[in-house]
Amino acid sequence: MTRIHFLGGCKTIGSSAYLIEDESSSVLLDFGVSFGSSAPSFPKLIRPRNLTVALTHAHLDHSGGLPLIFASGAAPVYMTAITRELIRLLLKDFIRISEYYLPFEEYEMQRLFRRIKIVQYDEPVDLGNGTTLTFLDAGHIPGSASIQVETNTHRFYYSGDINTTQTQLLNGARIPRKSPDVVVLESTYAQTCHDPRSQIEKEFVEGVSDTIESGGSVLVPAFAVARSQEILCILEKHRVECPIYLDGMAREAARIFLRHPTFFRDYPLLRDALKKANWIRSKRQRESVMEEACVMIAPAGMLRGGTAAMYLRQILDDAKNAVMLVGFQIPGTPGRILLEDHVFDDGLGLQKVKARVKLFDFSSHAGQDELLDLGKAFSNAQNLFTVHGEAEACEFLATTLKEQHGVNAYAAETDQRIEL
Ligand SMILES: [Zn+2]
Repeated sequence: MTRIHFLGGCKTIGSSAYLIEDESSSVLLDFGVSFGSSAPSFPKLIRPRNLTVALTHAHLDHSGGLPLIFASGAAPVYMTAITRELIRLLLKDFIRISEYYLPFEEYEMQRLFRRIKIVQYDEPVDLGNGTTLTFLDAGHIPGSASIQVETNTHRFYYSGDINTTQTQLLNGARIPRKSPDVVVLESTYAQTCHDPRSQIEKEFVEGVSDTIESGGSVLVPAFAVARSQEILCILEKHRVECPIYLDGMAREAARIFLRHPTFFRDYPLLRDALKKANWIRSKRQRESVMEEACVMIAPAGMLRGGTAAMYLRQILDDAKNAVMLVGFQIPGTPGRILLEDHVFDDGLGLQKVKARVKLFDFSSHAGQDELLDLGKAFSNAQNLFTVHGEAEACEFLATTLKEQHGVNAYAAETDQRIEL
């Protein structure tokens, strides 16, 4: 009997973990963490026989629980080469900055890293017992993958986080050639249509140029992995001529990117963009750099700490400056409050923000149209399960695929176990 067990990441974003089991093998797809308002939480840890783990990408909501598996057990963990380096960076940061007790530390990380096996896109890995894994480029962040699992009885396809649209940094996702029997599909933006990428880029570049020409500076708070470097590539592609700076963990992520050229759509563009940017090197530089008209790209993307919060305090009092947010801002974060109320509170007191603030929707996930197209392509599947989205988004995607396109789609529940 073949089963799929939804351990986490259903009707929510966080703690992604899905287990495929039959008599001979168990394949765990992702094992992430959830960041709520309280302590981080992890999916239920179960220990099936012959466990193999496959990781779609480095984001902590997919990878943040992996060391936990090694607290009292072990298993081979398959991932792409760049994902291996990125999880080292992100997991270390997670352990370092966590204000809460975590059920693992450096020791479990080391045990995890000893069991990592590197896979190439499109090259099937034979696990024995008739099970194979194939990683397909998912276009979401460098090294991200959708994963196909073929067992003796079923062909599974798990999208992971997926973007079918090409960006400056990455190619769009590869879709499986063989049609799957069982699909697990992310739903993050099932209810949101993205504007065309070229239009968003144009508006962003115009916003930057206008601010610089009027003598102002631009702060771009951006996620360290992928979004910061994507913004640099956009500025390079559009030949924006002004001093551009890069700070925070985005520099470390950029160093990792430079070691893995094959994961990028246009590596020379990335290399030139990173070369042209000035990488912040000292505290003194941080204190004075925003005095001239420039673009500063720095984490955190939602202004929860990081050097971005420090730069914002330096520029917020002058209307000729601009803050350009380049990713979704979760309600309640300093970035969202800034966007809605034009105030900034980083714990040092509430300050009115005179600088202009604008949001640009540079998403790394498929939007509504792309998700529906993906789902329709799997209309022959025996089952399609929607996951990784707010409850409404997962249900909307499943219902729309079922009613309008005849797909046997269903929004999975955490802890649900389905026999196939
Ligand atoms: Zn992700």
